[in-house]
Amino acid sequence: MENFIYTGLPANVVFGQNTTEQLPEEVEKLNISKAVIFTTPEQAQLGEKLSALLGETSAGIYPHAAMHTPVSVTDKALDFYTQSKADGIIAIGGGSTIGLGKAIALRTDDPQIVLPTSYAGSEMTSIIGQTEGDRKTTQKTLKVLPETVIYDVNYTLTLPPRMTITSGMNAIAHAVEALYAEQRNPILSMNAIEGIRKLTLALRGIAARPDDVETRSDALYGAMLCAICLGSGGVALHHKLCHVLGGSFNLPHAETHTVVLPHALAYNAPAVPDTILDLRRATGEDPSTAFYNIAKNNDVPVSLKELGMPKEGIEKAVHITLENPYFNPRPLEKDGLLDLLHHAWEGTSPTS
Ligand code: NAD
Repeated sequence: MENFIYTGLPANVVFGQNTTEQLPEEVEKLNISKAVIFTTPEQAQLGEKLSALLGETSAGIYPHAAMHTPVSVTDKALDFYTQSKADGIIAIGGGSTIGLGKAIALRTDDPQIVLPTSYAGSEMTSIIGQTEGDRKTTQKTLKVLPETVIYDVNYTLTLPPRMTITSGMNAIAHAVEALYAEQRNPILSMNAIEGIRKLTLALRGIAARPDDVETRSDALYGAMLCAICLGSGGVALHHKLCHVLGGSFNLPHAETHTVVLPHALAYNAPAVPDTILDLRRATGEDPSTAFYNIAKNNDVPVSLKELGMPKEGIEKAVHITLENPYFNPRPLEKDGLLDLLHHAWEGTSPTS
């Protein structure tokens, strides 16, 4: 064995179907006497259900979570939270809602219970990104790591088809980069490969059976393993490119991950042959092609062009990437990166 460092994050996970029924018990374990339930406006109904389940322990619903965790939304949510004399946070939804719950935890250090309804993975990390105007700041602190995560597959049965694929590919990207990041280690790699295997298999079949509990359950379990990779592992070129593209051209988060992953992985492949072999075993084919085909076969955008990025932006994106690069297993070469982004912009197959 090579030397390695592994840091696992403390998390209490309840996984399965109808696990929401265990919410009152989990609230009690954390000694919460009054909890505010956070949702987006679109998922307010789920908040109502949880509130009814909690009865007197519910301090009400705050259904105003928004994308990118704007500080202006958090400030209002914190007022509501303080006025309702709550001492516990419950967030039910995707990464945006979980972000709001984390923002309240950052300011109060109160315990959080999170019920994720997408595959984005924020529930397993100590990372919080917040926006003020057009400035985004990200920090890592255990204060925002949820104490308890309840995965209930029932919520994912309604995940819209496009979001299922893009949110799933976003999760896979976390696990792929954990395999070759600077902080890679055998424990996390084992976790990453199993997450990718489960999620890839499930995503291939999900369009035909979107409400099949078994397929959705495999997808959610895979997404959880991938989320652990984001929480405990590191990232590399793929995440750097997605941050640059998202920040510079305001491209949608999960869709950008979906487009870039096959190309970033193909760029890194020559530098990580053993990882590619492991991924080949997990996906059953060349992994870049596997991820590209999952998007293509599900009518999800495979090009940056479709996401609205101007072609002239490619040079700028490469320039910013090279200015302040992340660790990457293959050295970053200007021509190689230009080539990568041209392929991603056109949406051609990563191996063509
Ligand atoms: P989202 O939370 O923005 O959700 C998008 C929309 O889908 C919302 O209207 C939401 O209510 C709805 N939705 C969610 N689950 C649904 C379901 N099961 N059925 C029907 N509708 C549903 O999207 P997301 O992709 O889950 O999260 C993306 C955000 O999470 C990004 O801002 C990203 O930066 C953040 N994120 C943060 C971390 C972290 O560690 N801090 C990790 C991953 C993602």
